[in-house]
Amino acid sequence: MASERTLSIIKPDATERNITGLIVARLEGAGLRVIAQKRVWWKKKEAKKFYDIHEGQPYFKDLVAFMTSGPIVLQVLEGEDAIAKNRAVMGATNPVDAEPGTIRKEFAVNLQRNSVHGSDGPETAKREIGLCFKKSEIVG
Ligand code: ADP
Ligand code: MG
Repeated sequence: MASERTLSIIKPDATERNITGLIVARLEGAGLRVIAQKRVWWKKKEAKKFYDIHEGQPYFKDLVAFMTSGPIVLQVLEGEDAIAKNRAVMGATNPVDAEPGTIRKEFAVNLQRNSVHGSDGPETAKREIGLCFKKSEIVG
């Protein structure tokens, strides 16, 4: 498996609790490298665009409200099989279903406030990285 890139977000429930470092340590510990990183506070327009495939879902409005409720940390992670590896370290969407030792099992508050985002496939990763970072911000 060649080196891959994926988009990772540390969500507002985690920035609020001052645990971004703990989360990055988990990602780095799994062999993922942070090659771009910035702390931002999304406007509604940015959150809606990022999550546009979820438009129409009953949780969409609340998801946008949550993702704009505080600062978030955007990151590009690089490594062998980075997309699947990040998803594995994150754990299942609902922390109740997440494996022991995963970020969501350990840190997530609930299904919505689940601490991290990770791209779910190569096409999504490409799109999400492009939405969040300029080429010049990905510095290795
Ligand atoms: P993942 O983040 O694991 O890829 P999804 O893409 O299915 O999960 O959903 C995106 C995000 O929307 C989730 O991480 C979570 O914050 C929120 N979400 C998903 N499903 C629900 C739900 N049923 N109720 C509330 N929030 C949800
Ligand atoms: Mg998803």
